[in-house]
Amino acid sequence: MERQESFSDGFGSSPAKPFRLSLSCLGVRVLVVGGGGREHAIVEALRRSGAEIFAAMANQNPGIRRASKDVLLGDVTAVDRIVEWAISRQAELAVIGPEAPLERGIVDALEAASVPTVGPSRAAAALETDKEFTRVLMRESGIPGLPQFWSFDNLGAFEEFVNDSDFEFVIKPLGLTGGKGVRVWGDHFRTKEEALTYGREILEKKIGGTARFIVEEKLVGEEFSLQAFCDGTRLVPMPLAQDHKRAYEGDKGPNTGGMGSYSDADHLLPFVTKDDHAHAIETMSKTVEAMAARGTPFKGILYGGFMATRERPQLLEYNVRFADPESMNVLPILESDFVDICARLADGNLPSSVKFALRATVCKYVVPMGYGSHPKAGEQLKVDELSIQQTGAKLYYASVDEKGGHLYTTTSRSLAVVGIARNLEDAESISEEALAFVAGSFYARRDIGKPEIVRLKVERMSRIRQD
Ligand code: AMP
Repeated sequence: MERQESFSDGFGSSPAKPFRLSLSCLGVRVLVVGGGGREHAIVEALRRSGAEIFAAMANQNPGIRRASKDVLLGDVTAVDRIVEWAISRQAELAVIGPEAPLERGIVDALEAASVPTVGPSRAAAALETDKEFTRVLMRESGIPGLPQFWSFDNLGAFEEFVNDSDFEFVIKPLGLTGGKGVRVWGDHFRTKEEALTYGREILEKKIGGTARFIVEEKLVGEEFSLQAFCDGTRLVPMPLAQDHKRAYEGDKGPNTGGMGSYSDADHLLPFVTKDDHAHAIETMSKTVEAMAARGTPFKGILYGGFMATRERPQLLEYNVRFADPESMNVLPILESDFVDICARLADGNLPSSVKFALRATVCKYVVPMGYGSHPKAGEQLKVDELSIQQTGAKLYYASVDEKGGHLYTTTSRSLAVVGIARNLEDAESISEEALAFVAGSFYARRDIGKPEIVRLKVERMSRIRQD
């Protein structure tokens, strides 16, 4: 694929020199924004197809730093600074990891500066940054997989709803809350009074950015994540994965950014039927159609969080970027050329399918002690990279501080290991072998991907389907 492009030298003094660029050649200069495990996996996949990496991140992710030609440290929502730096480094392509810069319009700014970018415009990012926007779009466009929902912007109306309701529900602030704003009846609150207290808190503190929230019927089932490449009109799905948001084993404790995830060799999940899969793809394809029809086409990575239920899967939420941790399940087994996919996505010309190896994967995050409530930063972690490599597992760094050649925990997730094998059981064993080569004070959920735990989920789901 070729395009005619011109770049300035970034200092504004010499005139831009037009040159012809072939994005299928080696050494494409790619800006990657974000410094977590997800972005380390993105960087690794781009490096496999020969890209040169220019990384903008808030923390010194050691894995990304080593793989990069140059690094810009600082706030990833400082759009002007990042765009200026990308131009000065002659970036030919950009991939945006986290949601916060997308909400700030980084894609619009990079594309205005002629840097083709994998990520949605600010307007299209509303699928994640405004939960009410998504629900209204689904209702107005007749998109299947929509749970019942209600919107509130005053306490009186919410009080009336709560007093009249005789079913369990979920309370959701509208905007970004780092995955921690949603409260589920029975998990995070148990009485009508507690529901009212949280409703009041959202309105008073504008949790999620505005004094408004939605309430949804509580769905019962098993969750799964479907990530897809989207070029504005076409949607190309990736293998399914299941995340584990709760901090402790047995899905207990507070919600976190995600403690780990697994995917199966057939790219489905043991409790997801082929019909479920097709229905989830239909929900997402119709969303992409609706976004194009309203003049805000969605281009980037769309990731649907679904609940498999007794009926068809229901959409819990959209995210408008790769999932973290589920990106680490799919990117290491991507067999197609990632730079080519990204370039074609940005160009509105995705291929009709993308190849992934028929492998199962299990990703386990190493997190600081107390993560989810009172994380303990500053604890030293020792990582025997060579031994981890010898197990066959992948190692992805996330939020660690590197000082004097040593690694220390921060308050966020530290690093992840990913076992990859022909079946889930072996992938899980490999992830455990790899974890044995991480030393220090940390916590990891050992239950993720274990055969007996997956079996329980399958049994639970078949009971739900029979009810
Ligand atoms: P969200 O950020 O909207 O994905 O919500 C975070 C988590 O809350 C999800 O991963 C689910 O575990 C739970 N959740 C969200 N919406 C619902 C719902 N309507 N019914 C049951 N659980 C939900």
